[in-house]
Amino acid sequence: MMLSAPQLPRDLEGQALTPEDAAYDHAPTVFAAHIERRPALVARVAGPGDIARVIAVARETGSELAVRGGGHSPAGHGVSHGGIVIDLSALRRFELDAAERTAWAGAGLTAGMFTVAAGEHGLATGFGDTSSVGIGGITLAGGIGFLVRKHGLTIDDLLAAEIVTADGRLRRVDAQTEPELFWALRGGGGNFGVVARLKYRLHPVDTVVGGLLVLPATADVIAGFVAEAEAAPDELSTIANVMVAPPLPFLPEAAHGSHVLMARMVYAGDVEAGRRAVAPLRALAEPIADLLRPMRYPEMFPDEGRQGIFGVTRTMFTGSVGSRRAEKILQRIGESSATMAACEIRVLGGAMARVPAAATAFAHRQSRIMINASAIYDPSSSERSEHAAWARDLLAELGESAAGAYAGFLADEGEERVRAAYPVATFERLAAVKATYDPDNVFRLNQNIPPGTVRRGSDLP
Ligand SMILES: Cc1cc2nc3c(=O)[nH]c(=O)nc-3n(C[C@H](O)[C@H](O)[C@H](O)COP(=O)(O)OP(=O)(O)OC[C@H]3O[C@@H](n4cnc5c(N)ncnc54)[C@H](O)[C@@H]3O)c2cc1C
Repeated sequence: MMLSAPQLPRDLEGQALTPEDAAYDHAPTVFAAHIERRPALVARVAGPGDIARVIAVARETGSELAVRGGGHSPAGHGVSHGGIVIDLSALRRFELDAAERTAWAGAGLTAGMFTVAAGEHGLATGFGDTSSVGIGGITLAGGIGFLVRKHGLTIDDLLAAEIVTADGRLRRVDAQTEPELFWALRGGGGNFGVVARLKYRLHPVDTVVGGLLVLPATADVIAGFVAEAEAAPDELSTIANVMVAPPLPFLPEAAHGSHVLMARMVYAGDVEAGRRAVAPLRALAEPIADLLRPMRYPEMFPDEGRQGIFGVTRTMFTGSVGSRRAEKILQRIGESSATMAACEIRVLGGAMARVPAAATAFAHRQSRIMINASAIYDPSSSERSEHAAWARDLLAELGESAAGAYAGFLADEGEERVRAAYPVATFERLAAVKATYDPDNVFRLNQNIPPGTVRRGSDLP
């Protein structure tokens, strides 16, 4: 639908961009490059007042409403076709209380911006592995990254949030104030309103042992890597990709085109203890590249100036990766026709697993490993569906249907897969919170949890 001039939100402090504005051109782009949508309006909001005004217009006009933080949703949920986008990118205030080790952060910040700002004080909150991901989107999904075993999920450091709900009210929620909504925000995604600011706990994380270790990928090396990463102290969190080595400058030419295990990792603790912790990983095979070194934590978040990519991704949790599964991964990686196909293995556990499952809406706490199959392709030479089928088949062979999924990595995969992100009781509890705060499903362009049955005694505060 096209909004007519009288329907545009009035009195916006921020910018309202329509297709007629020159500045509109890049406004609708998202990381998922196959998504080409033209919203009728991109509202670059300046704060909660603007957010409430735009929600009201969307409701009055029946427009689809998208909420865009860092724009990294694999489903392209940060942009609507013909509807309205609430673009949070102008909300970039970072207010640190170094003594209290907390920070209020605007939802327009990226993980990299936050990490660099906090890093100036030797402090950090764990986000993911990519600088350009928005802190709002990753936090609302859960947040699994380089500090997951040491400090837990991003949500485990979320202390409070300011959210504008479907009724236009600004609510400041925490464990004491509207605790059910605060519970739902920690894993339930963008279903409950637009979060303008988030308050985080920070940890002293300054010099770490981090970087990249590249090993030849045989089934035994992959299985050995997983076993060693699981046995390592909680200070060590690893993110390893099995892939065909691209012609990267730091890889010897002889390795280009061979199967490699590219493992990024952080040991968040004493440097000597870190060296000891990564030694068993280095010893699994003669490294093809060993770029592990003491570094300041923010160095793990280089500003890649990321543009969008044509890619597919498929995610699952699982309990183990032994050599038989590793063999399967190697075989399938070799068969992919993508420009770059990878199977990512993240060893979990540690602090993430010590929080009770019912404490937050992210409830797959006991999952020991996350696997993500991804393929980057050239749209001029191959069809997206071919790569999507490859990723789906690989994860099916690794046992996807029996395992849960991570909402943050879900693409547009339908209701059943959204359900896989939550145990049944969690999903029903989320649906009840949804019915309380967004009974008309205004916030539906997301990994959607339709309003369920309101629980007794949970009327809107
Ligand atoms: C390259 C890449 C790397 C990634 N790495 C990791 C990783 O290491 N760990 C991990 O846990 N996840 C990771 N993710 C997944 C990522 O956390 C989710 O896709 C997240 O939703 C992206 O947030 P965003 O703000 O960038 O995206 P957007 O597309 O802007 O937002 C995604 C959705 O989140 C909701 N949302 C975002 N901000 C708000 C807000 N302030 N208020 C209300 N709703 C909001 C909306 O529903 C929106 O549609 C990665 C994704 C990509 C593409």
